[in-house]
Amino acid sequence: MYLSSGYPASVKGGTVIAADVGDREEHERRLASPDHYRTECRICGRPMHAHATRQRTLPDEPPLEIRRYRCPDCGGVVTVLPGYVARHLHQKTETVEEALSEAPEPPRRVAPRTRRRWRERARTAATVALQVLSALRSPALLAVVAQVGLDGTRGALLDAFRPLAGPRGPLATLTNLLNLALPGLRVM
Ligand SMILES: [Zn+2]
Repeated sequence: MYLSSGYPASVKGGTVIAADVGDREEHERRLASPDHYRTECRICGRPMHAHATRQRTLPDEPPLEIRRYRCPDCGGVVTVLPGYVARHLHQKTETVEEALSEAPEPPRRVAPRTRRRWRERARTAATVALQVLSALRSPALLAVVAQVGLDGTRGALLDAFRPLAGPRGPLATLTNLLNLALPGLRVM
């Protein structure tokens, strides 16, 4: 959305988010050939080779196959995560957003304990994310940071970012943006 590249060259391997993959159907279409998710090495700039895939589990769904690629030069391995899967949370981004909302009827897809844990995390400060967004110097992002404040919470940041996010929703869009700006950085 704002950045097409921008990975620090020092980061070898890690996770690449395919932000434009909005659902499982599209993900499975891309699994048909290793070329569809193939990416370049952040260090060498060389096309990477398909590596062993990895399984990822989402509740109430058959396991997902996730593609990984290895650089023939430096040996870095990247995992390519479809944009609709929330990094680290083993859930779809839309399910996490639903669980964070103030709706009185919590979604049954998420255990109450899990929902509590996410909501607690949403109440913690998003300090690094806000600093990184601020450093990107985009007027739209600076307005979001000004609205939330540099000591604002993750939940407040997601809310303030919602108008910029488009149909994918703030969690997916912001997760991708932050991971491009600083690999490994996340909002939740
Ligand atoms: Zn490499």
